[in-house]
Amino acid sequence: MAGDQRDGADTLLEVRDLRTHFMTRRGLVRAVNGVSFELKKGETLGLVGESGSGKTITCLSILKLLPRGGQIVGGEILFDGQDLVKSTESEMEGLRGKRVGMILQNSMAAMDPVFSIGTQVAEPLVAHEGLRWKQAITRSVDLLRMVKITDPQIRIRSYPHELSGGMRQRASSAASLGLHPDLLICDEPTTALDVTTQRQYLDLLKDLQISTGMAIIFITHDISIVGALCDKLAVFYGGLVVEYGPKDQVLNNPSHPYTEALLQALPTLGEKTERLRMIKGEPPHAGNLPVACPFHPRCDQAMDICKEGDAPPGFYLGNDHQARCWLLEKDNEQYHR
Ligand code: SF4
Repeated sequence: MAGDQRDGADTLLEVRDLRTHFMTRRGLVRAVNGVSFELKKGETLGLVGESGSGKTITCLSILKLLPRGGQIVGGEILFDGQDLVKSTESEMEGLRGKRVGMILQNSMAAMDPVFSIGTQVAEPLVAHEGLRWKQAITRSVDLLRMVKITDPQIRIRSYPHELSGGMRQRASSAASLGLHPDLLICDEPTTALDVTTQRQYLDLLKDLQISTGMAIIFITHDISIVGALCDKLAVFYGGLVVEYGPKDQVLNNPSHPYTEALLQALPTLGEKTERLRMIKGEPPHAGNLPVACPFHPRCDQAMDICKEGDAPPGFYLGNDHQARCWLLEKDNEQYHR
C-alpha cells in the first residue's frame, strides 16, 4: 500500500511490497508480508501496531540487520534511489550509522557497559569520518551538549550504568546522531522512561530534527507520541500496513476496523503503560497468519469475502490516505490487488 502520489525529488525512502520471512524449526514465519510506505526528507513516520505485527522487522530489513533465519524474499527498499535489497554488505556497512542511524528501546542494552560514554559516542566518528581520537572526543562533548546532557566534559568519562535512564537514552542518541544521518530509526526509545523524561526526550528529538533536517521512523504504541511527533502513520497488522496516511487523517478518520480498535485501546496522553489495553482476541502469530484479511478473526464486521482468497487490496481515501479493508470497496478507488 502507499505511494501513487509520489514526489520523487523529496522522497528519501520508499519501501515497496517488502516481504521478510524466517525459516524456523516450526516452519515458515511471514513476519513482513507485503509492506509499502514512503518517507520524504525531514518527515516523521510513525509505525503503530501490536507486538509482532512486523514493525521492528521492517526496520531491521531496511538496515539488513535481521535476526538469524530472516531473509528478505521480495520487494524493494529504495533509499535515495538505491535499492538496499540488492546492496552488498560492504555498501550497507557504509550506510549504517552514517546515513541511517538507529536508537533502540533499551539504552542499557544498546550501550556497551565496559566502555565509557565518550568512547562509544566517539567510536563512529573515528571509524566513519577518520577523526583522531582526541578530535572525536572533543566532538563527542559537543554532541552530548547537543542532546542536553549537563556537564558533558564530566559525563563523557562516565559508564552507562552511572547515568539515569533518560541520560543514557540521550547519550545513546548522541552516538546515533554524530554522523548526521539522513534517516533515524527509533524503536520505542521512550518506553523505559518516566512521563516527564519521555516528554523532554521527544521535544529534544523534534528540535534535533528541525536543526538537522533528518527524517525519522518512530516505532511506537503510544498515541501521545504519534500526535506530538509524527507527520504520517503506518498502522501494522499481521505483517501488513493496513492503514496509511497523514497523521491527522488517520487519527481523525480511522478507516480500518483495526485502527479504530487500536486507537480505542492505546494509552492517552501522559499515561504510563507497559502494555496495550486489550483488543478483542489475540494478535495472529506470523507463523500462522489467517488467510485473506489477517484481522478477520477479531473483526466484528467480517464478511465472507474477508475470510477467503487474498488479503484485501488498498483503497484510496484521498489525500494519500489508504486502507486495506473490503468495507471501503463501494465508494473508493482500489490501489492494487
Ligand atoms: Fe474486517 Fe473484512 Fe475489513 Fe478485514 S476486510 S477489517 S475482516 S471488514
